[in-house]
Amino acid sequence: MYFDVIIIGGGHAGCEAAHASAKSKCRTALITLDINKMALMSCNPAIGGLAKGHLVKEIDALGGLMAVNTDKTAIQYRRLNASRGPAVRSSRAQCDKRLYSAQMQKHLSCIDNLTIIQCEVSELLVNNSKICGVLIKTGDEIYCSAVVITTGTFLCGTMYIGFEKEHGGRAGDSAAEGLSESLDKLGFGLRRLKTGTPPRLKKESINFSKLEIQPGDSEPEPFSFYFKPKIFPVLPQTCCHITYTNTETHDIIRENLTRAPIFAGIIKGIGPRYCPSIEDKIQRFSDKERHQLFLEPEGLDSDEIYVNGISTSLPREVQEKFVKTIPGLERAEFARYGYAVEYDAIDPTNLKSTLESKKISGLFFAGQINSTSGYEEAAAQGLVAGANAAIFVIGNEPLIISRFDGYIGVLIDDLITKGADEPYRMFTSRAEYRLLLREDNADLRLSEIGWKRGLLDQCAYDSFCKKREKITYWKQKLLEFQLSPSERVNSRLHELGQSTILDRISGEILLRRPDICWNLLCSLGFDGTAVNKDVYEEIEIQIKYEGYIKRDIELLNGIKKSDNLQIPTDIDFEIIPGLSNEIKGRFKRIRPETIGQATRITGVTPAAVANLLIYLKMLKRDKISTKNQRGEQ
Ligand code: FAD
Repeated sequence: MYFDVIIIGGGHAGCEAAHASAKSKCRTALITLDINKMALMSCNPAIGGLAKGHLVKEIDALGGLMAVNTDKTAIQYRRLNASRGPAVRSSRAQCDKRLYSAQMQKHLSCIDNLTIIQCEVSELLVNNSKICGVLIKTGDEIYCSAVVITTGTFLCGTMYIGFEKEHGGRAGDSAAEGLSESLDKLGFGLRRLKTGTPPRLKKESINFSKLEIQPGDSEPEPFSFYFKPKIFPVLPQTCCHITYTNTETHDIIRENLTRAPIFAGIIKGIGPRYCPSIEDKIQRFSDKERHQLFLEPEGLDSDEIYVNGISTSLPREVQEKFVKTIPGLERAEFARYGYAVEYDAIDPTNLKSTLESKKISGLFFAGQINSTSGYEEAAAQGLVAGANAAIFVIGNEPLIISRFDGYIGVLIDDLITKGADEPYRMFTSRAEYRLLLREDNADLRLSEIGWKRGLLDQCAYDSFCKKREKITYWKQKLLEFQLSPSERVNSRLHELGQSTILDRISGEILLRRPDICWNLLCSLGFDGTAVNKDVYEEIEIQIKYEGYIKRDIELLNGIKKSDNLQIPTDIDFEIIPGLSNEIKGRFKRIRPETIGQATRITGVTPAAVANLLIYLKMLKRDKISTKNQRGEQ
């Protein structure tokens, strides 16, 4: 059996990778342990959140699946940081976990060029440092030209509750054992990482009357730029609840810390610092008297409530004891206990910006195996790896999203340049040019690329082009719209606490004022009432933040010139004059593709980059003079 591309794993990374590869017209196989658990949310039943929402919008802008699948299955939408600047506004949606997975499965099963196979891949078939297929557990070999590994938390996965230990990639699923050995033999030094999840409680055992209600947005907005259902939201919306731990909870946890496998030294893997277990929180923030918890429904018909904020691997009886000290949870019954999982991951500095391995040609990696954490991070990498695996087969320009194009670029550049000592998750603070990389303009930044690469459908692209045209058209209209300092206008401005106008002023200038919005301009006679919200909100942001945006673009243009300067792939770092052995070692290990990437390698000094630049100039000069000697053009 032969496929152009094989994707190993049907999680969030695998689904996007399979979709991107199949859309690129490559015969693609998605091989996964359980086809009924594709895109399963192993942990919290939500998509998006701070910075993660940016990733989801970018995936959508490029033609990926995550945003649409979220919109089809969301049961609560919340816009985070809505009152803050546009750079840090993020979308988040609570989803029906079962439906999310089922919907993804349904979608993928209808895609041309894609075959879904339920089986375990136990070995990679490699010939002369080039991937040529996989061996599956039945003993069959499946041949291919490229492979994307997206095995999540499953490679040699071990789960812990207290000192109870069980092999498995997540609760209810077995671990994948063979592939680790195969990767090890190929020279990928595997490391152990860990993550954890909180208990799920039975809904009917919770006293909701004691809890704060957390409703969703009153006017929810879809994640996807392009999915336009007749009725939105698609599913009935529900609410979450808030409660808090207290000193009694903390005392119980503190007394039992030695029974937590991580504290007892049984788990050696490194966990995500920013997603601490409740045990970690009690230790690290010992002065805090309480921690906020969110009670999130796992689905519309689900009887399980996810307790966001108490990820734990303490023994079952300790979990029961401390949970019962929390208001509203006094009679809580456990549907599932919290647990930790330890698994194998690779060092992502082994990868190129296409997410292809530097060692084995045609072998790509995406998702949690690359030492990241989170559905969105996984999906974003999946799209890039799947598209590039297809490009590898077809032969085309690689799809590289730079850190100046999007959060996806920031994520990949950070991983391949700096590596990740602990599971990496996205934050807005990781992006240098946040004001340029907003959620709202992800389509303007990336949809052209998605369409050119065949990932974004024609009708989505047409809708994008219309929006882009409307933005240009209505910005011009704003310039043309002139307001005179009439009594009506000035009394309206006065009512709003705004300074009045003395001279004629354009709608564009007036919109720059902080409290003036599109709808107010319309009430003053501007003919923009029929304009869609996504269009006028984009115009408002572009106009209100124009000064800052221009400044960032100018800065970026300056940096881009040297940042994008390519370093030849066959460069010998050993012979570059003026570099210390330590710097040579760092360059040789990471093998930066551009000057920008070289600059961002941990421990690389500006002086070292200057030496590298001088050397590249010398190389270029020598090449030109050799050409001239030969009389070449
Ligand atoms: P997964 O979603 O894990 O999917 C991997 C897929 O690969 C599965 O479908 C599996 O069947 C398949 N597979 C594996 N090996 C093979 C093989 N050899 N052959 C065939 N198929 C194979 N993220 C957070 O952001 N915050 C958290 O707090 C958090 N907590 C977590 C707690 C737990 C217990 C777990 C398990 C995960 C947690 N995560 C958390 C991580 C989140 O689930 C992952 O980041 C995300 O699911 C990764 O997506 P992925 O596609 O890389 O892998």
